[in-house]
Amino acid sequence: MLVKLVLDVFMIILKMGGSILTEKDLAEPKVDYDNLNRIAEEIRQSLYAEEISNDLIDGLVIVHGAGSFGHPPAKKYQIGQPFEMKDYLEKRIGFAEVQNEVKKLNSIICESLIEHGIPVIAIPPSSFITSHNKRIYDFDLNLIKTYLREGFVPVLFGDVVIDDEVKIAVISGDQVLQYIAKFLKSDRIVLGTDVAGVYTKNPKTHDDAVHIDEVNSIEDIKFLESTTNVDVTGGMVGKVKELLDLADYGISSEIINANEEGAIAKALQGMEVNGTKICRK
Ligand code: ADP
Repeated sequence: MLVKLVLDVFMIILKMGGSILTEKDLAEPKVDYDNLNRIAEEIRQSLYAEEISNDLIDGLVIVHGAGSFGHPPAKKYQIGQPFEMKDYLEKRIGFAEVQNEVKKLNSIICESLIEHGIPVIAIPPSSFITSHNKRIYDFDLNLIKTYLREGFVPVLFGDVVIDDEVKIAVISGDQVLQYIAKFLKSDRIVLGTDVAGVYTKNPKTHDDAVHIDEVNSIEDIKFLESTTNVDVTGGMVGKVKELLDLADYGISSEIINANEEGAIAKALQGMEVNGTKICRK
């Protein structure tokens, strides 16, 4: 059972981080098929779980990151950085390369989801979203609503878009999620990444990093260092900022470790999972 009525559905957005679906720190694109197929199975189980009644998943939107597919070409062509018009041709090649790479990743992800019986529809942001100064400006949600109404699971991703100020911008999966959640009023938002949410320091490089259960304001994260150097979208700090913006609209979200078997399935079904909740007090 997927969708009742689009304006009266229990709607969930699941973000699958590039760090989970790909070997993100590599300079070459590489999919983590074990994680992808396991998570696809967890989504399938959650969508069709008979015991969920009240919190039945009526509408699910999936957003994924670009991981080792998008970040290396974005970095190579410095997509998202200011440039001179004489370099526009090269930038457009870079734009095309990034878009093509993330599309390839999207296709692999959708293939796995379809094999697991999930009726996905890929919706590439570059084909209909534009931005103003790197923030989404024009994003018609009607098509997403229509697919949800028909019982499909729209799949969007971090992508490149045309920007009316800086010409070419990278729009992170986190920003896409934030926009959809805000305007479709999502009921549950789950972000699966490769750590159990937010810590006082990067837990991958600091043994003394302390877990933060809840983030309520920008003050709670201002001391955080930035994430891995291949990420052009701000990593954990960027993610939390997008989610705090959502929290201003009364929409809370959680970041969990999707490497933990069953964590995505539990979170989708509204069960308690180790992670960080982002909400206003
Ligand atoms: P994804 O690709 O899954 O969306 P990101 O790579 O953007 O995730 O962000 C997750 C990464 O952020 C983690 O792999 C972690 O190494 C890094 N990171 C840096 N600082 C922190 C922190 N203070 N707390 C948690 N993770 C952090």
